[in-house]
Amino acid sequence: MAQSRSLICKGCWQTMHVPIALRGPLAVPFRIVGLRPSRMNPNTCTLCELMFERVMKATKITIDATILFADLRAYTRLSQSMSAASMGGMLDVFYDECAGAIWDHDGLLNKTIGDAVMAVFNFPIRQADHTRQALLAAREIQRRIERRKAEAGLELGVGIGLHCGELSFGEFGRSHRDLTAIGTVVNTASRVQGAAEAGEILVTEAVRERVGDLTDAGAGQPYPLKGFDSPVMLYRA
Ligand SMILES: [Zn+2]
Repeated sequence: MAQSRSLICKGCWQTMHVPIALRGPLAVPFRIVGLRPSRMNPNTCTLCELMFERVMKATKITIDATILFADLRAYTRLSQSMSAASMGGMLDVFYDECAGAIWDHDGLLNKTIGDAVMAVFNFPIRQADHTRQALLAAREIQRRIERRKAEAGLELGVGIGLHCGELSFGEFGRSHRDLTAIGTVVNTASRVQGAAEAGEILVTEAVRERVGDLTDAGAGQPYPLKGFDSPVMLYRA
């Protein structure tokens, strides 16, 4: 994968107009003081991850963001017949393709959880159109996985769910500090992903309201989601 990577941190440039060099000879002095490309988004830096304490003087912030969950569907079924090595290889392909698609749209690959990934759009790189970028990333994940399937004859299928709204983002936990997003928006996005079939992207009403021009004009369908009293309207995107 040859993604174009930013030479300076997009997050620091956007919030502080400070050019933190991430690559090339100019990055050397920054590496010496411990500033490196973030593992969650290589176009941002490790300072961005600490921005809460250093810049915002808070450990958490409330932001409007879009959450993307993507889950490898064939994994459980295949894991019974595959060797550990080829299973690991398939997960690597999945993680790599998700990461590439998410970073191309300036999202943060926040977590890999077993055979799923969770991404946050609108932090640390702020995007006025973060919901649109998240949907474009979701579509790119599906395209990339389709291509890999065809190339390698791998039985891969990915279900994706999106939801957006206000959530709490920051450092949680005392002994093991974890930079992540929490709140009902995150839980809902996870449930929406659970309802998506392999090869499908499902979005909530809130997402459709923001990116209606990108989704099918078709009516949504009510889905019974775990943890919800009544069915939730979801839309194929
Ligand atoms: Zn930065």
